This record gives sequence, structure tokens and C-alpha cells, in this order.
Amino acid sequence: MINFVGAGPGDVDLITIKGRRLLEEADIVIYAGSLVSNLHLKFCKEGALMHNSASMTLEEVITTMKKGVEEGKSVVRLHTGDPTIYGAIREQMDSLKKLDIPYEVIPGVSSFTAACASIKREFTLPNVSQTVILTRKAGRTPVPEGEDLESLAKHKASMAIFLSVQDIDGVVDELIKGYGSKDTPVAVVYKASWEDEEVLFGTLGDIGQKVKENNIKKMAQILVGGFIEGDYERSKLYDPGFSHEYRKASK
Ligand code: SAH
Repeated sequence: MINFVGAGPGDVDLITIKGRRLLEEADIVIYAGSLVSNLHLKFCKEGALMHNSASMTLEEVITTMKKGVEEGKSVVRLHTGDPTIYGAIREQMDSLKKLDIPYEVIPGVSSFTAACASIKREFTLPNVSQTVILTRKAGRTPVPEGEDLESLAKHKASMAIFLSVQDIDGVVDELIKGYGSKDTPVAVVYKASWEDEEVLFGTLGDIGQKVKENNIKKMAQILVGGFIEGDYERSKLYDPGFSHEYRKASK
């Protein structure tokens, strides 16, 4: 059996209980070594085989999984954050399906929610934005048409931008065009939930300079939108004048 497990954003205690249990029981662990904390591997049983997928191809990963399953071993494929976001798991799952190898996917805490927790904000404020856009800037790999940052920014939704901090100037340029203002709040969270986490607050006008001053070039979330700074209306859910299924309005 193969389990794709979300390791969470960094802090080893941010894996799910199910994920940790599978990791403890695994005979073979294939982990995304560039982003997954090594500390997770301390929970594996003695003799478990570890493979760092950073230096492997898709074919090598699948061959390792297939061999393990044929030998009756349990295999954990450990991905950073949540495996369903920029995890490149679809191609692995489809390869396994072709080989008739069963697998499950165990979700994880994504770095975008971990970053929002670090800055102690809420993406969805009643009259500010009720939508979160998860995206990345086109770089060495393009994004499909209509998904450029300028077009997405026009929605004025809350945004979490992955994989893009190395081109912060390009990100900011496109966002300013889309939002139509340099005043839009931005927070850059480097290594959310790790011991060396760093948080920078600014606006589209000044965040580029701050990112460069702090030499942040990878492993950061760029969070953008009015949810970071500014006014908002309180939630109807806890408003004394608002009735719902579980609570009657007080007069
Ligand atoms: N599946 C992962 C994302 C993998 S793509 C998830 O759900 O989080 C890798 C990108 O995720 C990085 O370039 C960075 O933008 C972001 N990332 C991963 N871990 C991070 C962390 N601890 N703090 C901030 N950003 C992180």
C-alpha cells in the first residue's frame, strides 16, 4: 500500500495524527527533501528505508514504490504542506493506477494556511473578501492563459502566492496593474512554522525592497489583500441580532 502524506509546512507537530502513524509504521519513505523537515524522519522505525526524492525522477519514484509494494512493504510518499497543492502527485497516482497499485492520500496543513496563522489573520472577512486565490507567478514553468497575476488580482480577492518570491519585482508589477494601487497590503512569510521563520509586512509599493533587504529568495508565501490590514465588518454568525440554525437572535 502506498500513502501520499502531507507533512505540513515545517513544524513536525503540524502533520496529522494519521500521517504520523503511517510514517511510524512505514517500511519505505520517499520524502521531498528540499522542503520537508528532516525531523519527520526521526519518527520512522529503525531499519525503514529513506529516499530523498529531490534527486529522483518520476520513473525512479514509481519504480521504488512498485518494488516496495511487490515485497509487501508499506510505503509513505511524504510531501510538504498538503500534497494536493503543487505536489506533482497526480502523475504519480496515474502511474500507480496503470500498474494497479492501490494508494491513499492523507491531507496536510498547507503552507498558505500556516502562513496566515503566523501573521494571525483570516483570509475571508465578510465585506473584504470571501474568496482565496492560490496561485504562482509564471516563471520557468508557465501558467495557463487567464491565470496571470494581473488578471487574478482584478478580483481583489485574498491571495496566497506560492513559488514566486525569487521574482518579487515581477510579482509586484503584475499585482499593481491588477489591483490598480500600490497601497494593497502584503505579508511575506518565509518558512512558516519553522524555527527560522521570518515575517515581513508592507504594501505592493514597498514589499519588493523589504524582501531583497532580507535576502528572501525561496520558501516563502506572498499573502496579498485587504484582509491583512484595514477595516472589516464583524461576522453575522456571532452577531446577537442574527438567527441561524443553532442560535436565535436576542432582541
Ligand atoms: N504542497 C505545498 C506547496 C509546495 S510548492 C503546500 O501545501 O504548502 C513549494 C512552495 O510552497 C514554496 O515555494 C513556497 O512558496 C511554499 N512553501 C512551502 N513551505 C513553506 C513554508 N513553511 N513557509 C512559506 N512558504 C512555504
